[in-house]
Amino acid sequence: MILWTPEATKKLYGPKGKPFIGGTYKKKLILHTTEITTRLPNYTAPPHLTAEILEHDMVANGLWQHIPYDKAAYSLRENALEDDYWTWQVEMNAKAKDIPNYPEYVYENIAWVVNWFVENLGVKAVFADFSVMQYGMHAPQRMTDEAVRQFEGIMGHAHFGLDVDEHWDPGRLHVPKVQKYMVTAPPPPPPPPDEEEEMNTLKLGDEGNLVLFYQAAFNGWIDEYNLGNDKKVELNKTFDEDFEDAVKFYQKAAQVEENGAIDGALAPALARFHPWFQGLKAGGFDEVAREQADAAHTRLDGLHAI
Ligand SMILES: [Zn+2]
Repeated sequence: MILWTPEATKKLYGPKGKPFIGGTYKKKLILHTTEITTRLPNYTAPPHLTAEILEHDMVANGLWQHIPYDKAAYSLRENALEDDYWTWQVEMNAKAKDIPNYPEYVYENIAWVVNWFVENLGVKAVFADFSVMQYGMHAPQRMTDEAVRQFEGIMGHAHFGLDVDEHWDPGRLHVPKVQKYMVTAPPPPPPPPDEEEEMNTLKLGDEGNLVLFYQAAFNGWIDEYNLGNDKKVELNKTFDEDFEDAVKFYQKAAQVEENGAIDGALAPALARFHPWFQGLKAGGFDEVAREQADAAHTRLDGLHAI
């Protein structure tokens, strides 16, 4: 998983982020507006990222990151676990009431930020309804806690916290304008016909792209922990004895049963290290990796337990 936006300047405050709570892969990006004009507020509860969207050269000198992406931020209510469910927080230096009328370049900046999370952290390019955004804890756009948890995609602070939160930022974002400037990824390809049957466990003797996906994920784990290139497996699409030993090696390190098979519990743990999720670019492998990641995600949907 990529932890920092390369274009952003690191600006760390006291709070360093909290652990995310497991149990969901429903990633969301929550947009806020700071309502003030200073470049950086003196945050006591920092978001992940501050984006100065009114700055023409935002990408060059208007981005600051405060918390790594594997930790939860503090932009919603503290002590109520509200940030802690795979939610990434972006404060835009702007005013909610002016959002619908900002010029095109501001929308290009917003799209750049949203797109970054879609491309690099796997946030779904799906927007909540920003057409009605009102102040007050009973405002019509607000969702219940459970609805927020189930939501995948891009939402605003104003969608959050029915009966508890009052903020209406970031205001009536013009979603079609954001989408106009986003680089939208094509939908993932359907899985090859020979892999359409259900496959809940990968084990010795299995073959195909799903095996390749986890071979690459295993090598990503080796890289992540600098365990040595000699421990890597061949990317041969075959669950052979070498790969079975490799899976046992991972299971030993993860302190789970060393049965050498990849089941619904092990799959998501290992998948985190796949190059696509790590945001690595390795000699043209990345395009293929992304397709494999999409296919694997589709196949293993419902099995993911973290
Ligand atoms: Zn807010």
